[in-house]
Amino acid sequence: MKVLRAQCAGACYGVQRALDAAFKANEGHDQVFTWGALIHNPQVVEELEREGIEVARSMDQLPEGSTVIVRSHGVPPSVMRALEGAGASVVDATCPYVARAQKAAARLAREGCRVIIVGEAGHPEVEGIAAFAAEAGGKADVVGSPGDVPAGLYDPIGVVVQTTQRRENLDAVLEQLKAQGLEPRVMDTICAATAERQASAAQVAAEADAMVVIGGRNSSNTTRLAEICAAAAPRTYHVESAAELDPAWFADCATVGVTAGASTPESQIHAVEQALQEL
Ligand code: SF4
Repeated sequence: MKVLRAQCAGACYGVQRALDAAFKANEGHDQVFTWGALIHNPQVVEELEREGIEVARSMDQLPEGSTVIVRSHGVPPSVMRALEGAGASVVDATCPYVARAQKAAARLAREGCRVIIVGEAGHPEVEGIAAFAAEAGGKADVVGSPGDVPAGLYDPIGVVVQTTQRRENLDAVLEQLKAQGLEPRVMDTICAATAERQASAAQVAAEADAMVVIGGRNSSNTTRLAEICAAAAPRTYHVESAAELDPAWFADCATVGVTAGASTPESQIHAVEQALQEL
């Protein structure tokens, strides 16, 4: 069976940077925490725990002098201040692309715009971006789709985008704003990593008899990759590790495609590829 990996698959720049920061902080230190699960990948979170890097979810879990890693999604400014105030040494692994969206929201708010964040309500990255707008004295609305755009808006309106949003959704929201007579200022803060992974996955799925998509079941970008692959390759399987592979899935397959979400490290992709080759 031929195993074909999508050209663009696995850990993105921001996730890899956060992982590297965590392992580096752990060298020679014994009280290293991540503020929330570092990435949406249970196996990696377990690996970090085995290395002694624990997940903290409240300030009282952080002993004086400990090190805490802020994950790639970023945090609201108030949380950053609280972490610093708790006496912890903070390693800020906020992805630079997320930081760019945070700064854009703050700038629009400072310049008097009502801020529209195109993104998923409740997502930590979006909550952080909204907090940056609020901190700069602005008001932010989170809009998941054109139907969420509030009525009664007036200019100036500024738009920022959750980094993992699809461009089609941004365009549809902008159309809606324009249909309401508004002239939004748009800060396009979409990161290319998600779109690149989706395009590569679709390409491989079109050539393969079956697809394996690797990544946490709690990872929304991995789940979306699995949906895209399933549209082209009905025999698409979403797994978190090589141990889940069932040889029966690949009966009569000449080619199996492999892709992985942005929170899947190279070691997990390699293990799955190897297991597929040994079937
Ligand atoms: S998807 Fe893009 S913005 Fe998000 S962590 Fe990865 S590189 Fe950063």
